[in-house]
Amino acid sequence: MTEGWVKSNMFCPRCGNLKIEQFTNNKPVADFFCSKCNNQYELKSKSGRLGGKVNDGAYNTMIERIKSDINPDFFFLSYEPEKQKVTSFVVVPKYFFVPNIIEEREPLAETARRAGWTGCNILLNAIPAQGRIFIIRNGVEENRETVITKLSRSRSLEIRDVEARGWLFDVLNCVNAIADDVFTLDKVYEYEPLLSAKHPGNNNIKAKIRQQLQLLRDKGYIEFLARGRYKKYEDVLK
Ligand SMILES: [Zn+2]
Repeated sequence: MTEGWVKSNMFCPRCGNLKIEQFTNNKPVADFFCSKCNNQYELKSKSGRLGGKVNDGAYNTMIERIKSDINPDFFFLSYEPEKQKVTSFVVVPKYFFVPNIIEEREPLAETARRAGWTGCNILLNAIPAQGRIFIIRNGVEENRETVITKLSRSRSLEIRDVEARGWLFDVLNCVNAIADDVFTLDKVYEYEPLLSAKHPGNNNIKAKIRQQLQLLRDKGYIEFLARGRYKKYEDVLK
């Protein structure tokens, strides 16, 4: 039911093409494609609320896909089964996938048919807000042009090296979590313990934070006001 809905209702959020096509055979990594820009999409559907995490397949396969850069963009859809209504529809561009948004589940019990098999969850809440682009939010459709603009804007965050990208998103998540639009370097340093826990091998977290803030400035996400003072650009951080 959800695949049919996507096929008849979705446009391509990459190029604005009015429709997307469904792969006819069971493609290993994608469900839909755009015949105009050739971009591919994988659909994950969930009954009820979308929530913070979505079940996916084998953990190791997912990590391999992320590291080898072969993931398509993802659509996340949630629906109310009784009303046959789509409540949330989100596109996450492929470059927002980094290993730390993938949570390893408990291996299946010895008694299970596939004993020892380990699945994963995609942690939607760990993806920076800039990478969770709503097309339908609480049952209401977002403006199509806004969706395309947001996706296109997020492409500046596309860094090929997956580890470098992970760092950028970690610091972007900290910046997003700061309530004020104008903030100080010390405010970002407050996240040092959290970042340190995520990157136990790095013993100069503060330098890494400063480096990522420079990157976010170069990419037009924040502005340097004065020494140790920054400002978020409203259009890209809301
Ligand atoms: Zn397209």
